[in-house]
Amino acid sequence: MTTTHASLSYLDPARPEPWASFIEQIDRVAPHLGKLSHWLETLKRPKRVLIVDVPIVRDDGSIAHYEGYRVQHNLSRGPGKGGVRFHPAVSLNEVMALSGWMTIKNAALGLPFGGAKGGIRIDPRAFSAAELERITRRYTSEIGIVIGPDKDIPAPDVGTSEQTMAWMMDTYSVNVGHTASGVVTGKPVALGGSLGRQEATGRGVFIAAREAGLRMNVPVTGARVVVQGFGNVGGVAARIFRENGAKVIALQDAEATLANPAGIDIPAALAHVAANGSLAGFDGAQPVSEDSFWRIDCEYFVPAALEGRVTPARARGLRTKILVEGANGPTTPAADDILRDRFILVIPDVLANAGGVTVSYFEWVQDFSSFFWTEDEINARLESIMVKAFDAIWRMAQERKVSIRTAAFIIACQRVLAAREQRGLYP
Ligand code: GLU
Repeated sequence: MTTTHASLSYLDPARPEPWASFIEQIDRVAPHLGKLSHWLETLKRPKRVLIVDVPIVRDDGSIAHYEGYRVQHNLSRGPGKGGVRFHPAVSLNEVMALSGWMTIKNAALGLPFGGAKGGIRIDPRAFSAAELERITRRYTSEIGIVIGPDKDIPAPDVGTSEQTMAWMMDTYSVNVGHTASGVVTGKPVALGGSLGRQEATGRGVFIAAREAGLRMNVPVTGARVVVQGFGNVGGVAARIFRENGAKVIALQDAEATLANPAGIDIPAALAHVAANGSLAGFDGAQPVSEDSFWRIDCEYFVPAALEGRVTPARARGLRTKILVEGANGPTTPAADDILRDRFILVIPDVLANAGGVTVSYFEWVQDFSSFFWTEDEINARLESIMVKAFDAIWRMAQERKVSIRTAAFIIACQRVLAAREQRGLYP
């Protein structure tokens, strides 16, 4: 029997995405796994799905309920690991796909974790800080039965921050009766967080882009870069591209789409967002239409917002040499095929944005040993893990004549399924 997105009774068959995309990516690996493909079905069914009610008292005294999730997709290689998303579009289906991509990402990078993800369907901008704290604490308490430093370790994702992690760490610690700093990563440094964690995802995106550029003869210095999404991933990646001599010529966030062929002053754009909450009104670039944004001539295009944004129609219009996925799941499988046919190289999310979880791994190790590393040590280790993974995945792609995404999935699935096989099925 083959599982499709519709095989799981708890999913709405009318809304297959993005879990259906994840399943399709898994299916594409099957012919490359030899005997291990026997175990592939494991990856098409999350190990554990937890749905929780998150009730809070709002500032006006009314009671409101929100829906929260924690999905542990696979725990064969270690504890669950993956972020928590606060966004109005969060759904069980989305959290499942994101948890699956964490399984692949952690295994592709060789981190000793399974894959997990969480989320609450809320617009965090619609709440006061006090309300967000109550939502976060109640959610943490509700998922407290499945998380823990050696069980499943949440981290920030879209709509969550260091502050969210501080509340989660405190709530979990109060509930278990002792400070358990290793229960989450992406914490403030004062609470056992790691230097370099906040910018690690963006830094990793840059490392992946640079490595691709070296092999494709597309030097970063002087390259034109377009960044879609200007948060913790896109903002940092844009800054590091610029520091390395690239020209960021267009940016988009939830409120504005802007271009400046002469190159955007990224520190000024970041300062504008810090002061105003979005790029809207930033005068260092001109507003452009959504459609023309996706057709701008460039060397690197970095989708760093949400999944499913690189649609087949946009893939047909993109005029870039390399697409570097800062977001999770930005490119649909159909769009992936179009990009391949157009010779646009895709550096997939599970490699390109793995810098964040890699430094999360360092944070977790530092918390366990209560011994903290310097920022230079963190960045040097991040660089070495990313380059090593890039190299192995690149070689696999050449060897098997497959996309970089399929190569990353092959390496990851080999590791996860070999662990599954060696552990055996209980009972
Ligand atoms: N949310 C990030 C991701 O999608 C980081 C996860 C983590 O550090 O656990 O990779």
